[in-house]
Amino acid sequence: MVSTVQTAVGQYLRNISNAVFSTFEGMAVTMSWMFRRPMTIQYPDKIEKPIEETLPDCYRGILEVDTGVCTGCTACMKACPIQCIRIEVGKNAETAERFLQRFDIYVARCMFCGLCSEACPTGAIHHTSHFEIANDKLDNLLLHYVPGEPIPVYKPKKDVEPVRQPKGQPYLAVRALCAHAWRKEDHPDGSAPAGGGPK
Ligand code: SF4
Ligand code: SF4
Repeated sequence: MVSTVQTAVGQYLRNISNAVFSTFEGMAVTMSWMFRRPMTIQYPDKIEKPIEETLPDCYRGILEVDTGVCTGCTACMKACPIQCIRIEVGKNAETAERFLQRFDIYVARCMFCGLCSEACPTGAIHHTSHFEIANDKLDNLLLHYVPGEPIPVYKPKKDVEPVRQPKGQPYLAVRALCAHAWRKEDHPDGSAPAGGGPK
């Protein structure tokens, strides 16, 4: 009986000892960080330059389309496993000229896998280093890269390098329009895209 009580008291004291020791052990780690250089930054107020400029070239940010070098082949649309991209290509019956009527990317659904950009033969669709697209309307995450008149498709010419827009420029131009760019004929009641984005 006495030995049972002694065992229980010993276990009780060991538990207290362990609790005190582990508390000090944890606090020692915490305190040690008070004397180290902070690894965190006050974003976005206290950064030396925009985060976009510090990201590697291969960073998979928001997609953009340089419509000036898009052939309208729709390989990107077919490669996307979750139908984020909607392209419509028209053809002039008299001149047989093809043109982009629509090139939409539904950023809200995109999982940034890069399959579309890998499928593109000209590099027209590619990721940017932009990532901030928080918005209070899903409509604004449906980016229209043909916001106005149809755009003639690019026809590659032998030994002629295409003129490309600087990376990020098409996206910034479209983002500036995005609050008003969604097509009213697609959403006459002003609602979000049915089912969320292109079909
Ligand atoms: S990055 Fe992936 S999910 Fe996003 S549009 Fe391209 S293929 Fe689709
Ligand atoms: S972005 Fe590239 S893959 Fe997509 S339609 Fe244009 S050329 Fe084809």
